Amino acid sequence: MFEKILLIPAFKDNYIWLLVRDGRAAVVDPGDPLPVMERLEALGLQLETILITHHHADHQGGIAALLEHWQADVFGPGIESITGCNRPLCGGETITVLGQPVSVMAVPGHTLGHLAFYVPGALFCGDTLFGAGCGRLFEGTPAQMSHSLAQIAALPDDTLVYCAHEYTEANLRFAIAVEPLNAALQDRVKRVAELRATGTSSVPSTLSEEKATNPFLRSGEPAVIAAALEHAAVDRSKVAVFTAIRQWRNSF
Ligand SMILES: [Zn+2]
Repeated sequence: MFEKILLIPAFKDNYIWLLVRDGRAAVVDPGDPLPVMERLEALGLQLETILITHHHADHQGGIAALLEHWQADVFGPGIESITGCNRPLCGGETITVLGQPVSVMAVPGHTLGHLAFYVPGALFCGDTLFGAGCGRLFEGTPAQMSHSLAQIAALPDDTLVYCAHEYTEANLRFAIAVEPLNAALQDRVKRVAELRATGTSSVPSTLSEEKATNPFLRSGEPAVIAAALEHAAVDRSKVAVFTAIRQWRNSF
């Protein structure tokens, strides 16, 4: 595992993750270079690796400026247009980041080449899974996203979910509309409201918490199926339930 995983807030609600080991650093989805460079300099760290989950500008916009200061490996989806990507990936690989093996997962849905990076204990999932929500389907199909989320759900329950946005509070307002009687969800609404009231991040969460409260990981639950059927789900299959819940979320 890495010595430290540090949060760097960027833009309105993005999170850039800084991984640290032995004075060396890797950064996940540096959309904005300035706060990353400030933090690297403040901590005296050498940037060695840049990990990119997908091509959206708020995730890769800082690569060029960082490469002016550091010679870094840039890992990213090979089928997407990523500035300076010198280590293209397609998912299924094991790469080495700061001497640590990292599994690369293909998780299409938000974009077609979207990747997630997993080390035991931590998942960097970009805009695929959020606190109590999931990414919009800009490029992929509901079936692809549903499959991607199922792969994530199969990871160990104690995995910390390092997503790329602070969207949890808004997502919880929707989740509670889907499952108003879910006690774990009611509890999470209270806890996240307290965190956000003091400006504290609600990320990372644990995968077990997401499995208990995130409607997009709960397509097999009777209450979620019932809600989906009231919102135009064509049948009770996991993909049909996911599709209906995702569409409902878009207009919520
Ligand atoms: Zn995105």
